[in-house]
Amino acid sequence: MDYSELSDKAAENMRLALPLMKKHGVPMTPDNYAVWYEHVSGANAELSEKLQAMLTDNPILTESQCTGVYEQFFNVERELVQVVEMRQELARLLKEVISFVYSTVAHTDRSNNHLAELLTRINRDMSPQEVHEVVEQILDETRQAMTNGEELSERLNTAVAEVQTLKKELDQSKREAKTDTLTGLANRKAFDELVTKVTQDADNSGLDVCILFCDLDIFKEVNDKHGHLVGDQVLKVVSNTLKDSVKGRDLVARYGGEEFSIILLNTSLQNAKILADNIRKEIASKRIQRKDTRESLGQITMSFGVARYVPTEGVESFMQRADRALYMSKRKGRNCVSEAPPPII
Ligand code: GH3
Ligand code: MG
Ligand code: MG
Repeated sequence: MDYSELSDKAAENMRLALPLMKKHGVPMTPDNYAVWYEHVSGANAELSEKLQAMLTDNPILTESQCTGVYEQFFNVERELVQVVEMRQELARLLKEVISFVYSTVAHTDRSNNHLAELLTRINRDMSPQEVHEVVEQILDETRQAMTNGEELSERLNTAVAEVQTLKKELDQSKREAKTDTLTGLANRKAFDELVTKVTQDADNSGLDVCILFCDLDIFKEVNDKHGHLVGDQVLKVVSNTLKDSVKGRDLVARYGGEEFSIILLNTSLQNAKILADNIRKEIASKRIQRKDTRESLGQITMSFGVARYVPTEGVESFMQRADRALYMSKRKGRNCVSEAPPPII
């Protein structure tokens, strides 16, 4: 595609996105525009599905819904922008501090020379008036040198504090980039990174690594019947249940819409299946009510796929097997746990 085609496409997307944003009460901000541009371009099915799900409840979107979608799909870019901004900020700070140090040092050199020169002027033939003048000048230089020293130390302290704040902000933005905004769980990016790392480690150590893939059953009905916000409430309850079911070293992630994934370290396949079944029972036994009307949502259930990593099979095969096991549970009638088939090596 040549540039003119690209820009025609961009203009067409803009022509489609703007009226849609207006229709759904979406403020015209760059972040929101990025979301709606992505939607009309048809390049991101998951994002479009999310928007459509929200719009079936209410054709006018709230500000927090708009922010939520942006953060879910554009977090990585946001992190990159923040990192670039922070680097620029750090560079500015360093430049300022360095030039301040240079000017203070230059001033100190000048001041030392002046002091040396004043000292050479002191001799026996000086009148009391002349001595008085030289002493005054020496005192002036000394006072000035002390003030400069204090200013430098103050400026350096401020710079250190600013760098610390920047570092905190950077850490925070890194954490946010790996966190799902709705549930507070790790997001898919965090999951993908960790599962890649632990499977590579397991290739060498042979230690047990298991993953659980789980997906809410017929969740679309909850949304259709009670609306998207109630659906979100269910996602939060389920997330908390999952989080409370594992040990600190394990990772629970929201993999996508109503799909979750768990990495279990040093856990045998047998124990992973037992854990999955316990979580399944726990969720199925909950009686979740709508917060507003207290109406019961009926039984909420989840299907599970469990896989144990076979060293050297590779992360892709591992995840595909877990996914296949989850699919088997759906086919068996849902609300159950299936073990993954062995890898084809
Ligand atoms: P199955 O048992 O086969 O998994 O059926 P299902 O209805 O759960 O699956 P399907 O893939 O047809 O629908 C998933 C639904 O999950 C559709 C979508 O509206 C809902 N969903 C995805 N993300 C969110 C979200 O962030 N909030 C809410 N409330 N719903 C979501
Ligand atoms: Mg589902
Ligand atoms: Mg699903």
